[in-house]
Amino acid sequence: MRQADLAITFAKHSGRNTWREYAPELSRDVDTRLALRAELQKALDHNHFVMHYQPIINGHTGRIMGAEALIRWPHPERGFISPAVFVPLAEETGLIHALSHWVLEAACRDLRWLQSQAVVDFPFVINISPLHFQRPDFTQEVQDMLARYQLTPKNVEIELTEGLFLNNVQETIDKLKHLQSLGLKISIDDFGTGYSSLRYLKNLPIDKIKIDRSFVQEIVSDRNDAAISKAIIGLAHHLNLRVVAEGVETPAQYWYLKRNFCDEFQGYLFSRPEPVDKWAQRLQVTGGIVALPTQEDNIDHERTLLLLDDEENILKALHRLLRRDGYKIFHARTSQEAFDILAVHPIRVILSDQRLQETTGTEFFAKVKNLYPDTVRIILSGYSDLKSVTEAINHGAIYKFLTKPWDEADLRQELAQAFKVAVRR
Ligand code: C2E
Ligand code: MG
Ligand code: MG
Repeated sequence: MRQADLAITFAKHSGRNTWREYAPELSRDVDTRLALRAELQKALDHNHFVMHYQPIINGHTGRIMGAEALIRWPHPERGFISPAVFVPLAEETGLIHALSHWVLEAACRDLRWLQSQAVVDFPFVINISPLHFQRPDFTQEVQDMLARYQLTPKNVEIELTEGLFLNNVQETIDKLKHLQSLGLKISIDDFGTGYSSLRYLKNLPIDKIKIDRSFVQEIVSDRNDAAISKAIIGLAHHLNLRVVAEGVETPAQYWYLKRNFCDEFQGYLFSRPEPVDKWAQRLQVTGGIVALPTQEDNIDHERTLLLLDDEENILKALHRLLRRDGYKIFHARTSQEAFDILAVHPIRVILSDQRLQETTGTEFFAKVKNLYPDTVRIILSGYSDLKSVTEAINHGAIYKFLTKPWDEADLRQELAQAFKVAVRR
């Protein structure tokens, strides 16, 4: 009976109107969760959690605009357990209020301490579970906590997920308005991954939107992620909201987002989440400014050429040949490297091999055409697969198809011509 009951529960969780067969993993799952729940309660009672903070950075100045408070559970046997695992569990089991209260207090205490160590002109940003937010005394709880640590509403920002707008929308909006009138700033986290309703967004008293890491991860090579991120930025700016990109790990992601007008950045590229004593040391040295990725100066943007080939000697030979024509030449050995370069530098002309290790030149160009339509794209190939060539040409993804081995004079001529086309675009 117990096993049947479990199977029913899982069927319900899979969206109902379906069936599930009992399997031993289901009990193991439940047992693990029960054990974890008991340990969560214990950890709360014994103060086993710690807070780490990750900077949110202004993309133009490098100034720290805020520090997101992220809870950590160092478990004696299992190492660090991710909040992505235990926060939902706390929500299901009703422990979330105690946990959330603990976070609020820890963040306020840490901020107060940090202020005594260094100049802190930015707020701490706290994630609030919808279940906690919806409690009638939430606003009072925040005010009491601020008072207890002699903080003002400017010192704290709250981050909410779209799950908040599933129920009691009007009540939620009223509460947000009240918080805002007290001077607290509010962001929507993981925007676009939940239940965003544009109708509510229009009326929401919020200040910021965070682009989820899942859109940022492949932003330089996936046209859909790029399109969604750009749309979120445009939407936010038209609504007078600032935009933060989460999970920025590479300079290429940073440059792509920055060129598309993203305001603020957060991610391992700048800093991992760190405990507050590390912050104190760092602030004393840097004064709250983080180094932004730099770009080479003095690039002639009209003459940028990207060479993509997985053979080093071909790249070298091409470089030697074309260098004298005054191009600023970039090299890539894989399409991923090429996408990273495209995100950072405004490339005019691309010369790519057809046979690459992970893809073909024509497939690569089909993606580039969507992300960077103004580039002039040329294939230089030792073999010609007629189907892919015709497809690429018919889709307008390539400008010319040249063959290896090349005639030096011809190739230089073709490139000179390509740059003339590029200038007209
Ligand atoms: P979130 O609020 O969207 O937080 C961002 C997550 O991305 C954090 O994961 C952070 O460590 C991670 N992250 C930041 N930069 C990078 C990066 O460059 N690369 C990668 N791979 N990850 C990056 P974390 O700390 O594991 O937290 C996961 C989620 O758990 C949070 O997502 C938030 O929803 C929840 N959470 C964390 N702390 C709290 C809390 O105190 N209260 C509540 N209610 N939820 C929390
Ligand atoms: Mg967050
Ligand atoms: Mg997020």
